[in-house]
Amino acid sequence: MLTLYNTLSRQKENFSNGEKVNLFVCGPTVYDYSHIGHARTYIFFDFFVKYLRSQGRSVYYLQNITDIDDKIIKRAAEENKDPLELAKEFTKKYLDDMKALGVDAVTKYAPATEFIPDIIGQVERLIKKRYAYKIDGDGWYFDISKDDDYGKLSGRNAAQAEDAISRIDDAVGKKNKGDFCLWKFSKPGEPMWESKIGNGRPGWHIEDTAITEKFFGPQYDIHGGGVDLKFPHHEAEIAQQECASGLKPFVKIWMHTGQLLVDGKKMSKSLGNFITVREFLEKYPADALRWITFTHHYRAPLDYTEALAEQAAKHIWNLSALVRKMELITDTKKSPSLTLKTDSLDDDLNTVKIIAELFEDTNVQNVTSLFGLFGISLLEPVIPSKIEQLAKEREQCRTNQQFVQSDTLRKEINDLGYEIEDTPKGPFLWPRFSLSLW
Ligand code: AMP
Repeated sequence: MLTLYNTLSRQKENFSNGEKVNLFVCGPTVYDYSHIGHARTYIFFDFFVKYLRSQGRSVYYLQNITDIDDKIIKRAAEENKDPLELAKEFTKKYLDDMKALGVDAVTKYAPATEFIPDIIGQVERLIKKRYAYKIDGDGWYFDISKDDDYGKLSGRNAAQAEDAISRIDDAVGKKNKGDFCLWKFSKPGEPMWESKIGNGRPGWHIEDTAITEKFFGPQYDIHGGGVDLKFPHHEAEIAQQECASGLKPFVKIWMHTGQLLVDGKKMSKSLGNFITVREFLEKYPADALRWITFTHHYRAPLDYTEALAEQAAKHIWNLSALVRKMELITDTKKSPSLTLKTDSLDDDLNTVKIIAELFEDTNVQNVTSLFGLFGISLLEPVIPSKIEQLAKEREQCRTNQQFVQSDTLRKEINDLGYEIEDTPKGPFLWPRFSLSLW
């Protein structure tokens, strides 16, 4: 039985859903290149979905793209570009980056600007039910004091929301400091959509609930995202959707990934301390980032260093060598079918534990099976014919008991960048570790 840690109940819960699972994960705000912190979150959910599917569940994986937002408008103004064009450009880059990382489990990407009527519809319902109020010249705001349940995800109440640290809308005239914007009235030069509630554009939180309501209805199975979004973003989503529909719970299970850190600080676009996915891929293989992701528990923080990336690539190199050597010895190629015991994964996706178990019992089938599950490819280096030839000559010398010559040939092979190991089925050749193997 699969158990998942639910941030809302603060405990692991049995996930006894039937065959169909509706999952939504917050997508990026597209005003810059995606970084490896984003990648950690998306690689994890990609794996999670593939794992559920491998168990026979049919998962609809929905992800929004925040393609209209203050940050996009600000960046576009700095670069003298049209905000919607800038967002389109970075949406494409984001999708290309995900492809390069092998992240391909998403069923539907939903850019907010394609769902404006749904967003307006949800704001109108909140206005009608008196959860929303208008600030002239500014926009429509959600009144958190009207929602008795506000704060249940993050453990804050309406008063505590006043110490909010991030991305709470600043505005003069709000009833409570934690009130957040649902719809912003248009300002000159900004993108806007005409509507009866006033021409303008969506607030950040409402786009997600409007999109999920459109695809899944007012209640669904799992909502994911990085832990940085727990408050205020996810708290606001719960408030909006539960107040708009009157139905609870909005989402059964909330899953949050830990942050990828550099020098103890969150890697983020706004702090400027980020390594883009593209920069990472110039130096390391995508699989190294997948290995780094899975060797850390998904809920724990992950301290990124260059050494970690190199070490990850080395592990893939070592394990690939082991598999290829055993293939030579046993003269069989193993298929990546799942043969591993997955109890650790069923325990809130404990990838760290299943990797530790692999190292306790490193058999070829388990490595192949785990790599398949993690979407990591085993290396299959082509050995140059010159090296093969030297290895053959060395073998001949060994048969003739010409050990001095055979040692000389071994040294020559080593000097050319290859390791050689004698097996009952002949010599096993493997390139010395180098990042250029990928
Ligand atoms: P953003 O574009 O900042 O809204 O982020 C998009 C997704 O990436 C969200 O689910 C974030 O929680 C996640 N994310 C952003 N930065 C990091 C980080 N440093 N580590 C892990 N996840 C992150």
